[in-house]
Amino acid sequence: MAEQPPLRASRFTAAGARRIRVSFEFFPPKTADMEKTLWEAIGRLGSLNPAFVSVTYGAGGSTRERTHTTVKRILAETTLVPAAHLTCVAAASDEINQVVRDYCEAGVRHIVALRGDPPGGVGERYAPHPRGYRNAADLVAGIRRITDVEISVAAYPEKHPESPTVEADLDMLKAKVDAGAVRAITQFFFDNEHYFRYLDRVLAHGVSIPIVPGILPVLNFKQTRGFAERCGASVPKWLADRFDGLDQDPATRKLIAAAVAAEQVLDLVDRGVREFHFYTMNRADLVFAICHLLGLRPQANREAA
Ligand SMILES: Cc1cc2nc3c(=O)[nH]c(=O)nc-3n(C[C@H](O)[C@H](O)[C@H](O)COP(=O)(O)OP(=O)(O)OC[C@H]3O[C@@H](n4cnc5c(N)ncnc54)[C@H](O)[C@@H]3O)c2cc1C
Repeated sequence: MAEQPPLRASRFTAAGARRIRVSFEFFPPKTADMEKTLWEAIGRLGSLNPAFVSVTYGAGGSTRERTHTTVKRILAETTLVPAAHLTCVAAASDEINQVVRDYCEAGVRHIVALRGDPPGGVGERYAPHPRGYRNAADLVAGIRRITDVEISVAAYPEKHPESPTVEADLDMLKAKVDAGAVRAITQFFFDNEHYFRYLDRVLAHGVSIPIVPGILPVLNFKQTRGFAERCGASVPKWLADRFDGLDQDPATRKLIAAAVAAEQVLDLVDRGVREFHFYTMNRADLVFAICHLLGLRPQANREAA
C-alpha cells in the first residue's frame, strides 16, 4: 500500500499545528446553569489560543444585553479577543449605531455584521426596518462610518435560502466586502465539495477575503437536521445513515459526531484549509477533541513541553 501523502502526515506535527487558526462561536446564556456551562467551555477552548471567540446576537436583537454582558466579561476576565455579533433586523439604524458605540467603548475590536432573520423566522419575507439598515452590506458600511473595527460577515456555500440565485448571493457577499468586511465565515456544511465549489465562485466573482469554513459538530442529529432545513444547508444521506438508530443512544452519538467532524476537518486540512470557525453550541468537549486532532494543545501544556 502506498504511503500517505506528506500533507496528511504533517497535519499532526507541531509545525502543522502552528499554521492552524481556529475561532469559536458561543451564544449568550439564558440561565445561571447555562452560564456555568458557557464559562467552562470558554475556559477549556480558550486555552487553545483561538484567533477570536465570537458571541451571537439573538434573533431580532433579543439577546442584546446578554451578548453585551458576555462580551464584556470575556474582555474583563480573559485574554481572548471577542468578536461581537450584531444584526440589523427590526431595529432603527440609530439604535444599531448606539450598540456599535457601546461595543467600541467596552473595548470590542471585532464585529460580525449580519442582517438577521425576519422576526417571524426563516420563510417570512424580510422587510427592513423603515429607519434601519437594509441588509448586511448596508450595516457594514454603517459600522465603517463609526469605527475601524475588524468586520466579519456571513457567507453561504449552498446559497442563502432567500437569495434568488447563486449570482445574487455572491453579489451580496461582494457588496459586504466592498463596504469593508475583511473575513467571511460560512454557514455550516457537511459536504466539503460545496465549500470548495463556493471558493471557486467567490474568487471568480472578484472576492479575495478569507472564507473561513464554519464547522458544526452534530451533537444532536434531529435538531441539526431541522436547523439545516431552515438555513438552506443540505444534509447528505450518508450523514443521516451514520446517526440512524442512535436517537436513544447519546454516548454512541457523541462518538459518531466526533468521527464525522474529524473526518470533515481533516479532509479540509488535506486540501489546504488552515482556518476554522467552530459552532460550539457552548460545549467544549467535541470541539476540543477535534482541535486536538488538528495538533492544537492548551497553552499551559505547550509552555511546559
Ligand atoms: C457565521 C454566521 C453567524 C451568524 N450569527 C447570527 C447571529 O448572531 N444572530 C442572528 O440572528 N443570526 C445570525 N446568523 C444568521 C443570519 O442572520 C441569517 O442567515 C440571515 O438570514 C442573513 O444574514 P446575512 O448577514 O447573511 O444577510 P445578507 O448578507 O444581507 O443577505 C444574505 C443573502 O440573502 C439574500 N437576501 C437578503 N435579503 C434579501 C431579500 N430581501 N430578498 C432576496 N434576497 C435577499 C441576499 O442575496 C444574500 O445573499 C449567522 C449566520 C452565519 C453564517
